[in-house]
Amino acid sequence: MKKNACRICGADVTPYGKATVLRKYEVQYFECSACGFVQTEEPYWLAEAYSEAIARTDIGLVNRNLFNARVASSVINWFVDGGARFLDYGGGYGLFTRLMRDRGYDFHWQDKYARNLFAQGFEDAVTDTSRFEMITVFELVEHLADPVAELQKLCASTDHLLISTLLVPESRPKPGEWWYFALEHGQHIGLFTRQSLHALAERLGRKLCSNGKSIHYIGTRNICPASFRLAVSGPGRWLADVACRRSTLLLKDAGGDAADIR
Ligand SMILES: [Zn+2]
Repeated sequence: MKKNACRICGADVTPYGKATVLRKYEVQYFECSACGFVQTEEPYWLAEAYSEAIARTDIGLVNRNLFNARVASSVINWFVDGGARFLDYGGGYGLFTRLMRDRGYDFHWQDKYARNLFAQGFEDAVTDTSRFEMITVFELVEHLADPVAELQKLCASTDHLLISTLLVPESRPKPGEWWYFALEHGQHIGLFTRQSLHALAERLGRKLCSNGKSIHYIGTRNICPASFRLAVSGPGRWLADVACRRSTLLLKDAGGDAADIR
């Protein structure tokens, strides 16, 4: 792809503003003239940005993982096979994988940067022969230098991706005007719009379904947008919790009998 092209759709980009990243690098941001994707210049600061994989400023980590576990359980129950094998890609400390196993889903963990603290023994990886019912990709796509290539690899191992990333608000905030630019840790190098998610899904040969805010499905299924919005909403999550409760894997993982805990 040519320089100064959109990392998602390849169209021309124009300057979008500048900001100071990691308190010292003056970074130019660009926006795509076609899909609205907002991207940094070539990110030369990433080694420093990842010196600690999960930013020290991230105090919302636990709360977000609890929320993501509820959303993922609901989407799985509504649309895919809950008894199959799953992968959390870019799984961080492994908290989400552990929470999903506690909820009875056979989740596994992969992360290039972070140390697996909570899901040890459940490491797995996307390979030429691996197969997963769904791969969750939470808070990751905005970190990727080449989202299309990275998600292409995942699509070879699954039909269903569940992605979380905040969409750029309609007001089109400039760098520094919206917290999700995350200038203090410098890891967010590409911010999506709905249109850029569409372009991404198209390049992957998959379909997009989104709640229009933060939770997005890219996969082979043609999911009804209203059903998806309901599935990720509070009432939809509650319904899935009540109707599709699974036996926890907690005791089984610990070497005990899972039946004891119900
Ligand atoms: Zn674009």
